[in-house]
Amino acid sequence: MSEPRNDQRSAAIPFIDCHVHAEQAAPGGAARTEPPVPSYRARGAEAVVLIEPLDQCVAAAREHGPFVIPVARIDMDRARPRVIRECLGKGCRGIKFINPRAPYGDRRYWPLYEALQEAGSTAVFHTGYLTSAFATPRHPGSMEYMRAAQVDVVARRFPRLSILMAHFSNPWWEEGWKVMWSNPNVHADLSGGTAIHRSLAMWAETFAPNGGVHESIERLCFATDVTVFDAEGYPFDEYVSFYTRLFDRIGLDQAARDRVMRGNARRLFGIPG
Ligand SMILES: [Zn+2]
Repeated sequence: MSEPRNDQRSAAIPFIDCHVHAEQAAPGGAARTEPPVPSYRARGAEAVVLIEPLDQCVAAAREHGPFVIPVARIDMDRARPRVIRECLGKGCRGIKFINPRAPYGDRRYWPLYEALQEAGSTAVFHTGYLTSAFATPRHPGSMEYMRAAQVDVVARRFPRLSILMAHFSNPWWEEGWKVMWSNPNVHADLSGGTAIHRSLAMWAETFAPNGGVHESIERLCFATDVTVFDAEGYPFDEYVSFYTRLFDRIGLDQAARDRVMRGNARRLFGIPG
């Protein structure tokens, strides 16, 4: 049963954010302001999945305790399986893959996925469009290498590997939906700067076609892709608001809302609760 609407609006909605970044180091190494984790918690944030290089992840987890769920971003074209094992051995709950020089499904990456699958950990894939800020003359990048169809190749080949598709394969939304629905080991989120700015009607149709809630929403996760430890604060509100409006629009029950907002994250990243 859903709670009355007024209660949902006024009370903080508890969530685990499956995708955040840390602030960039200030020029000249200036000290940053202390992030107000207690105030984030008071506003509903139980924990965040921090996606940064290994050392930064480990340091943040040490500093902030269980509020930070570390997921190391690796250079998948250079890394060997021992890098995966090193990251997990230092406390990471998953590995982030992004900006490959070949499609995600390419055989060259299979030993990495194999190592992650054997460890029972989670692969977070950047999916779809990638800002040109990542481009270099020698490696301009290809969104086609990162589309959901490539994640599908990985999901079939490694059916015991838990996968989270960040950004829902923007702009291949329909492809992303098909891959998450058809592979029991694939979850997806609406993080990033595009998904929440598309029509709410489009997402309502995706997860409740013709008005009936579809089982695929069981594997949706909550995520933002914003900077968490920033002088400006942690701007998650518009994401919580978007997910809430989607839930309201399709009439999602409270148990399913809670799975999207935090239950799936707990399973994917091994968080007690
Ligand atoms: Zn990101």
